Amino acid sequence: MNSQPKYIIVGAGLAGLTCAYELLKRGEKDFLILESRDRVGGRILTRNGIDFGATWFQGHHQHVHRLCRELGIAQFPQYSQGQSILVYSSMAPAHHFENDPSATPASRITDGTSALIKALADQLTDHITLNTKVASVHEVQGKLKVATNQGNYSSDKMVITVPPLIATIIHYEPALPAAVVTAMENTHTWMSNAIKLGMTFRKPFWRDSGLSGMIIGQNGPVTELYDHSNAEDSKYALMGFVNEALRDFSEEDRKRRILDYLSKHLGQEVLEYLSYEVKDWSEDWHTSCESIKSFYMSPQYGDPVFHETYLDNTLIFSGAETSPTYGGYMDGAIHSGMIAASKLTD
Ligand SMILES: Cc1cc2nc3c(=O)[nH]c(=O)nc-3n(C[C@H](O)[C@H](O)[C@H](O)COP(=O)(O)OP(=O)(O)OC[C@H]3O[C@@H](n4cnc5c(N)ncnc54)[C@H](O)[C@@H]3O)c2cc1C
Repeated sequence: MNSQPKYIIVGAGLAGLTCAYELLKRGEKDFLILESRDRVGGRILTRNGIDFGATWFQGHHQHVHRLCRELGIAQFPQYSQGQSILVYSSMAPAHHFENDPSATPASRITDGTSALIKALADQLTDHITLNTKVASVHEVQGKLKVATNQGNYSSDKMVITVPPLIATIIHYEPALPAAVVTAMENTHTWMSNAIKLGMTFRKPFWRDSGLSGMIIGQNGPVTELYDHSNAEDSKYALMGFVNEALRDFSEEDRKRRILDYLSKHLGQEVLEYLSYEVKDWSEDWHTSCESIKSFYMSPQYGDPVFHETYLDNTLIFSGAETSPTYGGYMDGAIHSGMIAASKLTD
């Protein structure tokens, strides 16, 4: 790998890969992506058919739709037939309701959201360096010197797609303006506090009881659950969010509470799972850090300070949380990657 590329992109999540893909489309090949994890995708992670990171997108997420079309990625609607369950109190009986048949269900990516990441990364194999954590960026006379755990690099320009809060860990010289540092420190990393649960089954037994697999309720050990079977409807799964109140419970205790709760609402067949896995993103330092906060509504993203360039016009911020549209979401990540590629080349 060339340690002195024209451009360095920090982070091989959706924003970084999109930025690189856009550079390739413009005929630009002299760039490198430095990624701290041993895999690409960042907050997109499909394992054993389960999306432990991003899953859904809507009709208005036009950047996701366009990118999927361009890369030949298929999509399918979230399964929502049958009755869903609302658990609004631990004392009252659960409420069963029909989903609105006129509502457009959210979309999922066939073969899991990581299929989108794979399609991008397959075109960028010569440009991605894994296990490479950027520690510092030093601007000297319009050139950048970049120190990582794997050695030093230099480049003309750099795009940082690391979530702003995590990007505060990187040392910048000269120092970034105080307003930028404050904005970085105050930008919650979307979903960095989420705990996701995925379970696979031989059969979609809940459908036999006329259930959609959807359970909503803030008081139980699982706050949201959905049918997560594959597009071909040949592999069956449930996926959802674990109540953060269970974060500090032992794994064994947490699992017992989750299984008790799900078997109460969906039936004893829950206990016949083929696989059971929980991923707590707050324990993943590539995404999270000590100062995570519990935000479930999307906070205000795309602070204008992230739209400026820094270190003598060599440093550009990108990533879902910097996007002027749909901040925090995949659509925002793609949009921000496209903007960064334009800033590099235009
Ligand atoms: C549980 C969960 C559920 C979600 N659900 C949805 C959903 O349903 N729909 C939706 O639209 N969005 C969802 N999202 C959000 C979506 O995943 C993000 O918007 C998107 O993936 C962000 O991409 P990104 O490239 O901006 O950031 P990231 O994916 O965070 O990529 C940043 C990359 O930088 C790397 N990195 C960090 N520090 C360094 C360093 N110092 N040096 C080098 N590399 C570094 C990281 O390893 C990572 O790969 C969800 C996220 C999570 C976690």
